[in-house]
Amino acid sequence: MQGKIGLEEHFAIPETLQDSNGFLPDVVWQELSARLMDIQERRLREMDAHGMEMMILSLNAPAVQALHVRSKAIEIAQRANDFLAEQVALRPDRFQALAALPMQDPDAACRELQRCIQDLGFKGSLVNGFSQVDTPDNVVYYDAPQFAGFWALCEQLNAPFYLHPRNPLPSWAQIYEGHPWLMGPTWAFGQETAVHALRLMASGLFDRHPQLKIILGHLGEGLPYSMWRVDNRNGWTPKDRAYPAKKPLADYFHQNFWLTTSGNFRTQSLIDAMLEVGADRILFSTDWPFENVDQAAIWFDNASISEADRLKIGRTNALHLFGLK
Ligand code: MN
Repeated sequence: MQGKIGLEEHFAIPETLQDSNGFLPDVVWQELSARLMDIQERRLREMDAHGMEMMILSLNAPAVQALHVRSKAIEIAQRANDFLAEQVALRPDRFQALAALPMQDPDAACRELQRCIQDLGFKGSLVNGFSQVDTPDNVVYYDAPQFAGFWALCEQLNAPFYLHPRNPLPSWAQIYEGHPWLMGPTWAFGQETAVHALRLMASGLFDRHPQLKIILGHLGEGLPYSMWRVDNRNGWTPKDRAYPAKKPLADYFHQNFWLTTSGNFRTQSLIDAMLEVGADRILFSTDWPFENVDQAAIWFDNASISEADRLKIGRTNALHLFGLK
């Protein structure tokens, strides 16, 4: 399929490059680091070769979210966003941008989001899970009350928020001790992000902001497979929703969430996600440079879905979600 648009597609700046070291075997670091630092050359060749018209770019992980000194987080977010704006300006027909945000300081995150959307023309934001604030072990999730103004601004600006994974802190990750292979994309990323998304749903955030748009990668971080059970629990016992949200959580999953195919190139899983949320809420993505464009594109172009759904997922859903021309 020609004209595909991807929206979980990463780059790095020198200050964040090392954050991606260690996620893949050391023997491929030279290749991975070169891919992360390139925007206009190798990346465009990969896109051209596999029918990918556009990447909506975002910074690597955990990057800004792991900078517990607020002033540093603010500075690196601005620097990354300024660099990204320059790169997009070179090829706006092939690249658009999602903002990195210093969520350590909700007021600064609001200012940076507003600057990126209104001054730099970005299409939304991508945040790498929880943020470390003030000390390395102090973490904040975004259902916390200090983010009320931030979410109101996202809704007001109609700026989708991509909740991207990061690993749990070692001090919070006893379940993975002795099993380092479970960290990262293998398992820990999805578990961490799915729980964060459930926290947002249960908090009542989407009752307050029904137009808020949240994007999850990796075909929904396992949630399509689990949402029915989250709401049903033990169907024969009295229901007691012990959370502030007014509706079953699947209602928010269906109304406020969009899912991408990043790094999860499996037709059976795609069809499950389509059965749960519908083809209008699923969008093609690769997760370049951690995954290969060729693998993503060859899988997607040949997946056993209707051509009408392939066009939506590959392209038109992204045009609508981000208001692209
Ligand atoms: Mn990613």
